Amino acid sequence: MNLISHFINGQPAHAEGTRQLDVYNPARGEPCARVALAEPREVDAAVGAALAAFPAWAATPPLARARILFKYLQLCQQHVDDFAAMVVREHGKTFADAQGEVARGIEVVEFAVGIPQLLKGEFTDQIARGIDAWSMRQPLGVVAGITPFNFPVMVPMWMFPVALACGNTFVLKPSERDPSPSLLHAQLLKEAGLPDGVFNVVQGDKVAVDALLDHPDVQAISFVGSTPIAEYIYSRGSSKGKRVQALGGAKNHMVVMPDADMDMAVDALIGAAYGSAGERCMAISVAVAIGDAGDQLVAALAERTARLKVGDGMADGAEMGPVVSGAAKERIERLIGQGVEQGATLVVDGRSYRVDGCPNGFFVGGTLFDHVTPDMSIYQEEIFGPVLCVVRLPDVGRAVELINANEYGNGVAIFTRDGGVAREFVRQIEVGMVGVNVPLPVPMAFNSFGGWKRSLFGDHHAYGPEGVRFYTRHKAVMERWPSSASSGPEFAFPQMK
Ligand code: NAD
Repeated sequence: MNLISHFINGQPAHAEGTRQLDVYNPARGEPCARVALAEPREVDAAVGAALAAFPAWAATPPLARARILFKYLQLCQQHVDDFAAMVVREHGKTFADAQGEVARGIEVVEFAVGIPQLLKGEFTDQIARGIDAWSMRQPLGVVAGITPFNFPVMVPMWMFPVALACGNTFVLKPSERDPSPSLLHAQLLKEAGLPDGVFNVVQGDKVAVDALLDHPDVQAISFVGSTPIAEYIYSRGSSKGKRVQALGGAKNHMVVMPDADMDMAVDALIGAAYGSAGERCMAISVAVAIGDAGDQLVAALAERTARLKVGDGMADGAEMGPVVSGAAKERIERLIGQGVEQGATLVVDGRSYRVDGCPNGFFVGGTLFDHVTPDMSIYQEEIFGPVLCVVRLPDVGRAVELINANEYGNGVAIFTRDGGVAREFVRQIEVGMVGVNVPLPVPMAFNSFGGWKRSLFGDHHAYGPEGVRFYTRHKAVMERWPSSASSGPEFAFPQMK
């Protein structure tokens, strides 16, 4: 069986005799490859290669760095379907959904090739007589990215194109559940002319992550994953003096006002709740029906949820694939059981779902609950599966209270025709990304992505201008040239004269 290895200093690399793990095809429910799991020595080799490559890469003019990324961008465009096929095989999402993921990743490269413009500093002439002031942003050094299973192409691309464009060198630790795209990124970057050592991949689990967190030569960590691990990464990484951005989990609500376009709201909910089998950090998992929107909404959702086409992601017409693993399926089905026990109304039950031709696949059918209340575990936990909970509330004020009390603050949406209600909602809601009649408000590459509260630890959002700030340090320079006559040392704090 194919062994997925590390990529260090421009070469595939795996040490014989190290730990390995099965990588599953979730639609088949069986292993399709094995992945090597790095020990601290492999992490050290990757960081060492990145450290050695840093001075020359940092000194490469930003335009020359951008040109390599431009070539990589073209190669990515040629390999969209290769990336997408890997995602379907190891993650399980549908081919069209995987192509969309690749396209959103490519947009970050399109942003990063503008780096000469993005790195421009500020200049102030004559801050005092004969003195000018200016600023610049410089790379940090070796930076690392630790990424989740649910976007194995796109989430690494939130990180390394910006980090590399800024002049850093990079070590990627992708999810061990769908590791193959990381090596295609490495191969295409090399083909585009990236010098060896600038981009490295270590496959692995907690052992590799901890080695990166503790490594003295790693200056910054970008993490995307579940909230408990994000919190751990943030506290351990920052205690070692590293700059850390750690994006965590979510529980995203969509408020449906009685005046909303109900067909639009139902289509939006079906796509946002069940697309990618609910395994998106921006998935809508709670619909908040206001006033008399509830009955109409639940009736339409029930009819549409029951006829969702679930199957192998490569199958024609499949709207949703399997969930990622047998353990994920078991957990989701256990949570559905708890929802029933705790008194929610199970309108559509996706447990024990069977797909013809895939008897062992990790499938869960679309599941719909009505009359969910905030004390239930299906409301409190991030289910990360195709389960939509409907909460009924009398007015939008109560919806804002509910959402603001939630521990997560990644995404939220409101569907209404009333601009005044929408405007007030946008102002009052304590969530990082807000959609108005848009269910998945995932910012484009030139805006930054990030949640609030326990959906993000650290103070920078990912990619866009915030990504450039995260991956660079600001330097302020004051400059005088010795044509002006010296007036001797000054002991008072400097001020403009
Ligand atoms: P995860 O937290 O299990 O894993 C993320 C990464 O952390 C992986 O690379 C994994 O190897 C590593 N890891 C896992 N356990 C670890 C441990 N004990 N110590 C150190 N490292 C560890 O997340 P996942 O299941 O791969 O991804 C799904 C989660 O990611 C969901 O919670 C989802 O909401 C979140 N997510 C968030 C965003 C966002 O932008 N906020 C985006 C995508 C996914």
